[in-house]
Amino acid sequence: MASPGQKVVLITGCSSGIGLRMAVMLANDEQKRYHVIATMRDLKRKDKLVEAAGDAYGKTLSLAVLDVCNDDSVKQCINGIKDRHVDVLINNAGIGLVGPLESIPIEEMKKVFETNFFGVIRMIKEVMPDMKKRKGGHIIVVSSVMGLQGVVFNDVYAASKFAMEGFCESLAVQLLKFNVTLSLIEPGPVHTEFEAKMIQDVKQKEYPGTDPDTVHYFKNVYLPSSVDIFETLGQTPDDIARCTKKVIEASSPRFRNLTNPLYTPIVALKYADETGGLSVHAFYHMLFNLGPLMHVSMTAMKYLTCGCLRSRTVSPN
Ligand code: NAD
Repeated sequence: MASPGQKVVLITGCSSGIGLRMAVMLANDEQKRYHVIATMRDLKRKDKLVEAAGDAYGKTLSLAVLDVCNDDSVKQCINGIKDRHVDVLINNAGIGLVGPLESIPIEEMKKVFETNFFGVIRMIKEVMPDMKKRKGGHIIVVSSVMGLQGVVFNDVYAASKFAMEGFCESLAVQLLKFNVTLSLIEPGPVHTEFEAKMIQDVKQKEYPGTDPDTVHYFKNVYLPSSVDIFETLGQTPDDIARCTKKVIEASSPRFRNLTNPLYTPIVALKYADETGGLSVHAFYHMLFNLGPLMHVSMTAMKYLTCGCLRSRTVSPN
């Protein structure tokens, strides 16, 4: 249970990746300012988190079951918290989906929206009314650079994050009236199970209903570039956790927080040309005409910078 003066932080999707590292970092805050409720669908998957949390487990970190896709699970979790009091809600749980559109069943696409979009809304609907009543609170949503700029073969995942961005832009204005803050965290590539699952999935899948050219572009053109980008520019879950902690601790938290400033020009490209042609054609050339050159330059960058590009890429500040 939280001690007086401690902020209650509830995080979704803490059994791995970014959520796990956020829980560990906040629970190990030197000044013990937070009591973290780290949630996951299945507590059988708690071991990695418990081990990483060390002494904080049972003191500044407690665990709870929560499936963002299930109304009852969300309600039960929030009802189980003393006075239903959550100061900071971090919506981190999410799933990816990559591949040729033709091969993806609508049901799989709906699952992405159910988790990445409705999952967040379900959480906000449960926690926000209490925050509004108390005239205080901070809602954080882990979006993505792909919530601002679409990426080829990530059509549905990007759409789910775009939807989230529109939802948050709209809601943030109303919440301001109630002294409730809303912030978006927008990471580029991050080394987590997300990336590993994507690569594993691609190896197993056959892409039924997709013409051979598209499968070729996906497997032999897009995927190698994507792996290069992850290897060269990918941040660590700790980078994202550090950025999120800064957002929580800022005196006036920013609404948008791109964690990797190397992506700022890509996002700017979109707004530099109102016709949208510039970014569509730039991405086309990068992928289909400059692919081999990009591979060479990414490999060179990786070796020349010894990975320091990754450590330099944490904003804000
Ligand atoms: P991850 O797969 O390690 O973590 C996602 C977590 O969400 C997992 O622990 C998973 O069990 C949980 N989860 C999935 N469905 C859930 C549900 N219905 N209820 C509760 N929990 C559920 O991947 P990650 O990279 O740590 O992803 C965290 C967030 O970061 C996601 O929202 C993702 O979209 C976002 N993100 C990731 C990257 C990246 O490159 N890894 C980049 C930008 C944004």
